[in-house]
Amino acid sequence: MLAVMASTYHCPQDGTRADVTSLTWCCPVCRGPWDLDFESAGPLRPGELPGRVNSLWRYEEVLPLSSPATTLGEGRTPLVPLTGTVSAKLDFLMPTLSFKDRGAVMLAELARRLAPERVVADSSGNAGTAVAAYCARAALPCTVYVPEGTSAKKTEQIRAHGARLEVVPGNREATARAARTAAGAPGTFYASHVFNPYFLHGTKTYVYELWEDLGGRLPDVIAVPVGNGTLLLGAALATAELLAQGLIDTRPALVAVQAEAVSPLAAAFHAGAEDLLDVPATATPTLAEGIAIPSPPRARAILAAVRESGGTFLTVTEDQIRAAQLDLAARGFYVETTGVACWAAVGGWTDRSVVVPLCGAGLKTGLAA
Ligand SMILES: [Zn+2]
Repeated sequence: MLAVMASTYHCPQDGTRADVTSLTWCCPVCRGPWDLDFESAGPLRPGELPGRVNSLWRYEEVLPLSSPATTLGEGRTPLVPLTGTVSAKLDFLMPTLSFKDRGAVMLAELARRLAPERVVADSSGNAGTAVAAYCARAALPCTVYVPEGTSAKKTEQIRAHGARLEVVPGNREATARAARTAAGAPGTFYASHVFNPYFLHGTKTYVYELWEDLGGRLPDVIAVPVGNGTLLLGAALATAELLAQGLIDTRPALVAVQAEAVSPLAAAFHAGAEDLLDVPATATPTLAEGIAIPSPPRARAILAAVRESGGTFLTVTEDQIRAAQLDLAARGFYVETTGVACWAAVGGWTDRSVVVPLCGAGLKTGLAA
């Protein structure tokens, strides 16, 4: 419990603070998402890593929780070359077959220590399956809200882990609203991969693993698919921490990839805006359901992180997504449609070293029609 007690939520917009034991899931002033202040046991001691547990918990000095009771052996996914310059990190080999396990394990371990009456989560699928699995591991009662039309394999998995499934009519935003209403009930821990910053301190291990596997370096470019930006913001946290610890000299460019059909962040970025543009959110269907987020709450932080890194936003069409899925399958990797977006965007790059995540198993969605 001590590690939790020393941690504080703070609002990046107005500086409001709250203790993490309060079950407060957003800033009461602006209703925005929290960032996290915690006393790290850092800096990371690279010389000690070889003898440590072979999961993301090996980076214990830089994590907000340590000595977890809730783990499924997550992390340490392989890095495999695809071309002379582009490599893939195989996060579809995580316990629930997506990178979301990196953050879900943090939320479930935090929830276990806070012992709420119930946990609620909302998701387009993969975060929900991850939270359901880790709540099962932690013996926490869990309800997961998903939008109608979520892949049957994902809802089946959520139910299999013993979570209550609530299918919400309408789009992803309607699902988020339903979950936030439920999250307001007393004794509820909202395991939000968007609002809870512990999630980002889990996803940052993606970059710590890259750094370790590349012998204490990072690639020139880290490309990530972006909907709510949870992997991108984790990557930005990790690169900032590695720089501050003197463990890297230069910041890799973060290249954020969105589906052209739902690309509010790419539009804002290329308009030079600091926040989402003031236009009605469109909800065109896309094969990349995992990143189809019309109005991401952490938009400002995502746009700032990509700019600070010297990176950019790219968009991919539905045809490019289909082609990339088939192309990866022809190379031996069967990846879900959201998880192929980065390969579709930067697979042909030859001038810099690039790492793309293959971050959801193909069996979750099947092959694109
Ligand atoms: Zn605030």
